[in-house]
Amino acid sequence: MSTPDWFDRIPKTELHVHLEGAVPIETLWELVKKYGGQAEVADLEALRRKFAYRDFPHFIQTWIWKNGFIRNYDDIAYVGENIARNFVKQNVRYVEAYFSPTNFTRHGLETQKIAEAWRRGLNRISQVEVKLIADFTRDEGSRRAFRTLEEVNEARSMGIIGVGLGGTEVEYPAELFREVYARARLLGFQTTVHAGETVGPSSIWSAVRDLQADRIGHGTRAIEDEELIIYLAEHKIPVETCPISNLRIGAIRTIEQHPIRHYFDRGILVTVNTDDPLMFHNTLAEELRLLETVHRFTRDEIKQVVLNGVESSWLDEDRKRELKLEFLRDPVWSSTT
Ligand SMILES: [Zn+2]
Repeated sequence: MSTPDWFDRIPKTELHVHLEGAVPIETLWELVKKYGGQAEVADLEALRRKFAYRDFPHFIQTWIWKNGFIRNYDDIAYVGENIARNFVKQNVRYVEAYFSPTNFTRHGLETQKIAEAWRRGLNRISQVEVKLIADFTRDEGSRRAFRTLEEVNEARSMGIIGVGLGGTEVEYPAELFREVYARARLLGFQTTVHAGETVGPSSIWSAVRDLQADRIGHGTRAIEDEELIIYLAEHKIPVETCPISNLRIGAIRTIEQHPIRHYFDRGILVTVNTDDPLMFHNTLAEELRLLETVHRFTRDEIKQVVLNGVESSWLDEDRKRELKLEFLRDPVWSSTT
């Protein structure tokens, strides 16, 4: 790795990262070897090359293939520990991370124990605080989501503070999950919804109106609706953008097309995130670097985006204030390299 620059060294938060998509490649390689996967991938380089996609179905196929090497609770804890180590390396201080219990329940593991295993692994690294968001998959339907919700509710002492909704946006609209979200709110969970990644503004409107989402994941296509831009800004609904993910999935054709500059200028509480760093070979520093090199953000504006991450988090107001002060006290902001 080259010498860490300003973007590597500044303190950061991550609000949109999937633990199953954030496995460090070296950690996955260890698991591939453990389970005799070398017949399919000869070495670390071959494994790295697996994470390039012809299209979206191929992306999903690769995702499922990779999960096949995470088979028991100890594997999950091992992965969790190494993800947390990776956050520390990048000076990520606070994280709200998605985990998808059903990725593993179909292999016979139980939701509560999956949450416990992630917590066990993440807690081995004390320099970063990681809270959990249980992610429902649209494609599995609302009945499965209801069940997952009740299960994660029993495991909420593992640091589960919110729920999210991912999966195929086009075939499974947000309104199908209205009752699930109402129940989640009643139980005291915060809410976020992946919306406007592959479907247009109507999907985001449904997330805010039908599901009353506290945050929007991606929100890439809000740009197509002026009224929605105004709504998101006025209601201070944070948008968890993931520009490189959008590019790799084909939601945008070039990185220049990502609307983050416009959102920032229009006063939307916008944050920058990696989504699935294993799948997309990206880092948070790289995402922030693009703000400068592509979207012409000044360093002060980048600092604002970083602080938006704290503001958009689900920490209480006192903790937000403390964390912002901690970030601002860091001497790195005034260095130029
Ligand atoms: Zn995501």
